[in-house]
Amino acid sequence: MSLIENIIRPDVRELDAYHVPDSAGYLKLDAMENPYRLPEDMQKRLGEHLAHVALNRYPVPSYTALKAKIREKLGVPDGYDVIVGNGSDELIVIVSTALARQDRRARVLAPVPTFVMYALSARFAGLDFVGVPLKADFSLDMDAMLEAIRTHRPSVLYLAYPNNPTGNLFDVKDMLALIDAMKDTGIVISDEAYQPFAQTSMMPYLPMHPNLVVMRTVSKLGLAGVRLGYMSASPELLAEFDKVRPPYNVNVLTEAAVEFALDHIDVFNEQAASLRTERENLSAALSTLPGITVLPSSANFVLVRLENADRVFEKLLARKVLIKNVGKMHILLDNCLRITIGTPEENRQFLDLFAACLR
Ligand code: PMP
Repeated sequence: MSLIENIIRPDVRELDAYHVPDSAGYLKLDAMENPYRLPEDMQKRLGEHLAHVALNRYPVPSYTALKAKIREKLGVPDGYDVIVGNGSDELIVIVSTALARQDRRARVLAPVPTFVMYALSARFAGLDFVGVPLKADFSLDMDAMLEAIRTHRPSVLYLAYPNNPTGNLFDVKDMLALIDAMKDTGIVISDEAYQPFAQTSMMPYLPMHPNLVVMRTVSKLGLAGVRLGYMSASPELLAEFDKVRPPYNVNVLTEAAVEFALDHIDVFNEQAASLRTERENLSAALSTLPGITVLPSSANFVLVRLENADRVFEKLLARKVLIKNVGKMHILLDNCLRITIGTPEENRQFLDLFAACLR
């Protein structure tokens, strides 16, 4: 038996590595990044701010000042705290680690299609993932969800709000009914990665629902490279999750950069507002193209359905345009492409090239 066979789990050996395409020289509209950089004067001031950070010291693992700023600027209810992660990706790993009991297999539930890391992280931690298909209009299939909760008694239900890759918001009444149905079984995580573009949140419901967790990130706001996620819940839940968090998981440069950014949150909020306007403009323009269905989005991307999506995607690639072909992810996404909202100029360029590729 080879070393690899001897030590690496068979299910890991069979996996493909998470693939990120090389995007140098491409019109990059595939990863829900904010296309705007910081204004130049702010870049300079951020540079000066970071120059004073003590790189020789470990971070202080309580992250007290950073957390206080997050609570103050990002709408965390009074009396509620957050824990921080190296992106919300790491928070998902932390949740999986804390829930992976040894005495019985715990289950993770989510409507599908949704963000792939819920299932992947569950699998790595030894949890069973149960995916319940959304309805054809991407709303929650409440009968099937409630049945799955009764049958599988999941430890956690993930609801991406808005959902990726469909872009829609689930009905709040449905979400509250699921939180209620889960109250003796497990937690419900409202993953609000796209909250800056949806402008709605489950945050205000935290005090009423001890099994509700709200997870967010600064990635889509314009700080994807910085890697910071945060998560709020009852103090009792947060204390348990915090025990499995690596103590220095957020580095001092990230800590300082996010504190600086939150002192200038208006700049990011303005960028999010123009991306929301651009989303409406791009959606309207796309829906005038022949054979294109644009799905309603509350995120910084739009999903379109068309015939021969694979061929159009390949043609776009040949013209150095990178979007995401989600058609093979799930049967409900057959012939769907996901387009991240760019600057007005990028969106114009995309529209021209997309229209040309349809011909
Ligand atoms: N949640 C959802 C729904 C996402 O789509 C993403 C990123 N695509 C994440 C979480 C991860 O975000 P982060 O950059 O904070 O790891």
